[in-house]
Amino acid sequence: MTGLFLFQNDLRLDDNPALQRTARQVDHLYCVYFIDAALFTHAELQLRRIGCHRWRFLLETLFALDTELRRVGQVLHVFYGQPRRLLPQLLAATGATTLGLSAHPGPYENATIEATRAYFPDLGLIEEFGSTLFEPEQLPFELAEMPDEFTRFKTAVEGRKARNQSTLGKLPSAGRAAVLESLMPLCVVKIDDGSLLLRRRISDGSPPDIPQLSKPAIPAGLEEPVAELTDRLKGGVGAAKTQLDYYTVQSRLISRYKATRNGLDGWNFSSKLSPWLAAGCLSPVQVAEAISRFELAHGNNDSTDWLYFELLWREYYQWLLYKYGRRLFLKKGIQQKRKLTTFYPQAFKSWCEGSTEWPIVNAAMRQLKFTGWMSNRARQLVASCLVNELQVDWRYGAAWFEQWLVDYDVANNWGNWQYLAGVGTDPHGQRRFNLHEQAERYDPEGRFIMRWQTQEQQE
Ligand SMILES: Cc1cc2nc3c(=O)[nH]c(=O)nc-3n(C[C@H](O)[C@H](O)[C@H](O)COP(=O)(O)OP(=O)(O)OC[C@H]3O[C@@H](n4cnc5c(N)ncnc54)[C@H](O)[C@@H]3O)c2cc1C
Repeated sequence: MTGLFLFQNDLRLDDNPALQRTARQVDHLYCVYFIDAALFTHAELQLRRIGCHRWRFLLETLFALDTELRRVGQVLHVFYGQPRRLLPQLLAATGATTLGLSAHPGPYENATIEATRAYFPDLGLIEEFGSTLFEPEQLPFELAEMPDEFTRFKTAVEGRKARNQSTLGKLPSAGRAAVLESLMPLCVVKIDDGSLLLRRRISDGSPPDIPQLSKPAIPAGLEEPVAELTDRLKGGVGAAKTQLDYYTVQSRLISRYKATRNGLDGWNFSSKLSPWLAAGCLSPVQVAEAISRFELAHGNNDSTDWLYFELLWREYYQWLLYKYGRRLFLKKGIQQKRKLTTFYPQAFKSWCEGSTEWPIVNAAMRQLKFTGWMSNRARQLVASCLVNELQVDWRYGAAWFEQWLVDYDVANNWGNWQYLAGVGTDPHGQRRFNLHEQAERYDPEGRFIMRWQTQEQQE
């Protein structure tokens, strides 16, 4: 029997229950990944759905995954185009009768699978929940009854055992690559200067027709703070495990997390695991187990509890998207609340470029643009600024984050934005931060603001 495993936001071999089950059930396997052409076009809100930082991180991750697969006799076939077309074409070309994939909360992603199943009614679907701590059966409520309020969700799931980690046995042999030729498979290659490129696997090896996402030139004065983050934000399971080990075992920074977590700048104030969790280089279960191992060795404290608590926030937003689907993207939000905000091009531009009247917002927006990273505290402040001070429709902010964040995660991003815009699940309604007070509290000496000013701005 031939199977096809579709990697999505689960770009790892370890603790990938869907891959494990698919591997057990088929004799020949094709491992595939789709680069959706729609990511590069200007979507509904006139913004691209991917930017240079996540693109680089993705290429690094795909390269690492392919390398890992090759070690076990497999290979990653990458395709560029519309998943809705690619998937049926691949199933037809390979003769695969089984499709394996990890469950994904995104309605857009799921529409492809549903459309394909309608086309191939006999297709065996293997779907497992590898990107959440719990499987639906482990939740103490039906999805439709999931509490909308985080505190109630947390109380309901806290203390429950997460799903067990899955261990991958031997992978089935790779399906014949020749049958994929007409679909123009791609592969990620490392070129002489160490950078990664997508190439056609077969034929002339020329670059595929994918729009270029070049990095913005780093203004003088920002080189050091940019490098501090980008040098370590590297895609792939190896880098993910290194960071998990660094934060928990090597530096034991985890033991101070509660006190440091509201930091704005630098590498050590929070775990920095989000990019790897978002791409699926790490599963939340692997992170939860690392926290438990630390607690076994050194005892638990407020900080280890708090890091797990943050994983529950992540968990909550994943299930919220499963529950509400497309409502997470509507201006009125899941509350169906009318908002008196609109789109002011000038105000939005000043926010994106970091030229508002609030220095702390500007610093954070520059940090985002040049590194793909922004702290949780700053995300809250810039979101509050866009919605409350500039009165701009929150969805433009969410779309800007989608483009620029290296750790963009559909559920976390749109869920957090709704929460802050007061159309989501915050029981207190809209959050309006006093930006000057927040700057005094979290950046009392103005170091963050200074550090993210270009040389020109400092003069
Ligand atoms: C407006 C806004 C947009 C956001 N967009 C994203 C996004 O696209 N992708 C993303 O991963 N996170 C997003 N977050 C949540 C949060 O800011 C990041 O997860 C966090 O800053 C990542 O840094 P860290 O890994 O060092 O987190 P830590 O503080 O070390 O936390 C550990 C992990 O817990 C999870 N987590 C922490 N805070 C949250 C939260 N508020 N919501 C959900 N999960 C959380 C993340 O997976 C994180 O990696 C957003 C928050 C806001 C306010």
